[in-house]
Amino acid sequence: MTLTPPDLPLRALFDAQFHASRAQIDVPLALRLDRLRRIRALIDTHGAALAEAVQADFGVRSTRLTEVADFFVLRALLGDLERHTGVWMKTRRVRTPVYLQPATGHIQRQPLGVVGVIGPWNYPLQLTLGPTATALAAGNRVMLKPSELTPHSSALLATLLQQAFAADEVCVALGGPDLAHEFASLPFDHLFFTGSTAVGRKVAAAAAANLTPTTLELGGKSPCIIDGSADLDAVAIKIAHGKLLNAGQTCIAPDYVLLPQGREAEFERAFAAAVARLFPGGAAHPDFASIVSDRHHARLQALVEEARGQGARVVELAPRSGSGHVRQMTPVLVFQPPPSARLMREEIFGPVLPVIGYGTLDEAIATVNAGPRPLALYWFGRDRSSREKVLRGTVSGGVTVNDTLLHIAHENLPFGGVGESGWGAYHGETGFLRFTQQKPVLVQSRWAAASLFYPPYGATFDRVMGLLRRWL
Ligand code: NAD
Repeated sequence: MTLTPPDLPLRALFDAQFHASRAQIDVPLALRLDRLRRIRALIDTHGAALAEAVQADFGVRSTRLTEVADFFVLRALLGDLERHTGVWMKTRRVRTPVYLQPATGHIQRQPLGVVGVIGPWNYPLQLTLGPTATALAAGNRVMLKPSELTPHSSALLATLLQQAFAADEVCVALGGPDLAHEFASLPFDHLFFTGSTAVGRKVAAAAAANLTPTTLELGGKSPCIIDGSADLDAVAIKIAHGKLLNAGQTCIAPDYVLLPQGREAEFERAFAAAVARLFPGGAAHPDFASIVSDRHHARLQALVEEARGQGARVVELAPRSGSGHVRQMTPVLVFQPPPSARLMREEIFGPVLPVIGYGTLDEAIATVNAGPRPLALYWFGRDRSSREKVLRGTVSGGVTVNDTLLHIAHENLPFGGVGESGWGAYHGETGFLRFTQQKPVLVQSRWAAASLFYPPYGATFDRVMGLLRRWL
């Protein structure tokens, strides 16, 4: 177990942050913006070293992929926070009901205090620094626990944050599941977790013991429904991009495709062409990421083999030509795996795309609704009524229509899951409010008539209540 900075027990780091947060409850805009600037400077100055570290963590993970998928998203988020924090932190006056006037009401937006952030390995910079920056904008202190599966980038992130922040502003704890459990058991004012649904359950249980509210950004099986009205050539490249970005190791990657029966061959041809266009030369292409570990790689192979053994048709796309990395896994389409296959029960998180044929749109919707509520849903087509039917008939964390992934990049759309794909959302003002206490304040007026409601209750009270009954 490694702790930075300084080499203090986790509880001591928490206590330092806790006392600092209680000593300075009113965190001025200038300090919040300064903290955001320090995060921005960190990625501006050390972006190349961080991207190299992520590359070392994965084996193959193009630094340009890190540029677009981690830094671009982070810069968009930081820009949004820098532009709007001054407005978002302002007190809001609210309308006061007539029976309480001339009292007034307002909502004061205050920092929660100490926020814990637990991050995953798949986008190890975006999903650690993003929630951290959002919590800082809202005036909080942050303790961060990045993933142990990305040791190079997590260690560098810890060093850089330690240089940029006092330990009672931002600190980083490095370690595996034991440390993570200890971390999740700290009495944070809020605990923000990004990771798997299985670990999310443990985090929620540990936080519940302290009545710590949580945000759980989890995973799941995000369906991609292709409507009969869709042009498969145009659709295939978008699905291939969403699925194969980071080799499918993306929480909102399309997990499986629902396709009108009879169009399988057409989809196979279009998808194969799209993969060849995105990764010329096959899976050994340097822009095609490798699977993060041997364990994850073996699991994916086992899922495919199980489905094949159960009668599914497996089509290998862009086989590895030349050397490449041993964990650059050949993308595969798996046609009609049975619902009992692990491929159709577990989140895949790799370059394996099941394709299921459907007869009617109602059948496709029923397939989605038979499973836990997904983190994302994708719909492709031109028929507006069919689109509305799918949007009204399904519940998911988010949706992109006629593309994949992009709702995550829209700062004014709250990003999060629902049901087993998580709870709570962030990005934009929603994220700011996730880490904010919206404190309601009623200010009584010296002209108030509240005593009309006081006991002893008599004729005046009855008259007032009678009036209010007619009025409300
Ligand atoms: P994971 O759940 O295995 O690990 C995530 C983090 O939890 C790591 O830092 C790990 O050390 C920590 N952890 C492990 N045991 C813990 C415990 N008992 N208590 C507290 N923390 C513990 O997830 P992962 O493999 O790193 O990431 C992949 C998963 O994350 C996928 O399911 C993916 O869909 C999901 N994900 C979701 C989002 C989102 O925004 N919704 C984003 C990225 C990834």
